[in-house]
Amino acid sequence: MKYVDEFRDPEKATVLLAAIGELTQSVVRELRRPLHIMEVCGGHTHTIFRYGIANMLPAEIELVHGPGCPVCVLPMGQVDDCVAIAETPGVIFTTFGDAMRVPGSRKSLLQAKAEGADVRMVYSPLDTLAIARDNPKREVVFFGLGFETTMPSTALTVLQAEAEGIANFSLFCNHITIVPTIKAILDSPDLRIDAFLGPGHVSMVIGTTPYEFIARHYRRPLVVAGFEPLDILHSIWLVLKQMNEGRCEIENQYGRIAPAEGNSAALHAIAQVFELREFFEWRGLGSIDHSGVRMRAPYARYDAERKFALPALHIADPKSCQCGEVLKGVIKPWQCKVFGAACTPETPLGALMVSSEGACAAYYQYGDLEGLRSKRAADAA
Ligand code: SF4
Repeated sequence: MKYVDEFRDPEKATVLLAAIGELTQSVVRELRRPLHIMEVCGGHTHTIFRYGIANMLPAEIELVHGPGCPVCVLPMGQVDDCVAIAETPGVIFTTFGDAMRVPGSRKSLLQAKAEGADVRMVYSPLDTLAIARDNPKREVVFFGLGFETTMPSTALTVLQAEAEGIANFSLFCNHITIVPTIKAILDSPDLRIDAFLGPGHVSMVIGTTPYEFIARHYRRPLVVAGFEPLDILHSIWLVLKQMNEGRCEIENQYGRIAPAEGNSAALHAIAQVFELREFFEWRGLGSIDHSGVRMRAPYARYDAERKFALPALHIADPKSCQCGEVLKGVIKPWQCKVFGAACTPETPLGALMVSSEGACAAYYQYGDLEGLRSKRAADAA
């Protein structure tokens, strides 16, 4: 297939759904319980809801929405640190649009901007370098976040700043890594996941080899999936086929974009600039060993953590927020007490309602809100 419409072909979807239905019956007969498949990536969650895929699948398949939306796992303390840097006199603070709306304990970056802080949205970290060149007397900070997908462009920006001798640029690094996170989910005592749809964009950088331990040690199949509806259906079919044949492997459905060996230039840039942190705090998941990166010592002069005195406080989410339970797949978004009431995309209480890739935002945007509210009321009664 060549054009995007071909990945949305209803006739092919019908054929795949029929094949999924047959395999599901066979797998469930053996398992004697429903199947839980986690889509790790927020982009997959978005496609699943946008195209109504969850409703087309057999009732015995439950899709669990994973932690692969970087904005959604940003803890409040980190947002407070961003606001503290942004409110420092003379600073220009830059980041991607979604990050500006994540609530901190006092305010979001967008609210800090409304109160006078110089916070600017950029589309690439290189935009921040351009701002730094234009404002040599001001410190210009980029808030870098995201998995290995966005990490290479941040690393290359640091290298470019060094090459040009730009001294008024710094990076507040909140980049995170996918493999330790999946491992933390697999080690969770209340694990209910039978298989994974692996993240397509991250795999474009890291390849498929880093996932091998999931099949080998944890005996769970993982299929790296693309982001169109037929990609998702095809990947679910591949997962079921493995389970039906008693196989447990790492497969790559997204080979047209994600090479098995990854992107060596991107991996080299990452390794040059970043090193693993001992641990990193995730919203709703707590601290996960080696799940984040920081800047290596040779780049310390670009490190905002060393340039600014940060509060670095651990701030608990508001009691009414159930983002952690949603992230772990313990409850569905609509089961959160404030879903669609106090927490909406316009007034998000939790980060999962902020980004379009967040599970709560996807349910809110594409779900039957009235139906979900009545279901929750019925559950509570
Ligand atoms: S509805 Fe809001 S508070 Fe509840 S889990 Fe979703 S984002 Fe978090």
